[in-house]
Amino acid sequence: MGDYRHARDIPDIDFLAAVEEAIRRRPNIPATRWDVERVLGGLESDPTFTVVGDVPGVPSKVVLAKARRLIRRGLLDGCECGCRGDFLVTARGVELLRPSAEIVI
Ligand SMILES: [Zn+2]
Repeated sequence: MGDYRHARDIPDIDFLAAVEEAIRRRPNIPATRWDVERVLGGLESDPTFTVVGDVPGVPSKVVLAKARRLIRRGLLDGCECGCRGDFLVTARGVELLRPSAEIVI
């Protein structure tokens, strides 16, 4: 599990996979930044959404900076202002995660 100091320390694929995992854990909403941070830090999701500081090794500001870059590159949807985030992996992001996935039209 990461000791992330800069956005570049989080591989694109790890971040996108963390978004998918957060959605798998809480399927009725897009991924919140808090859940993404907990997945990246190797923690279970917090059912109460009680947020107390940063996940160890996963500073919020680094996660938000990484999200900003992925959104700019069209790999992620959502908001990196510091709100809930509501992250979703875009079709381009899915392509990066699973390049061999067959596209059925
Ligand atoms: Zn926002």
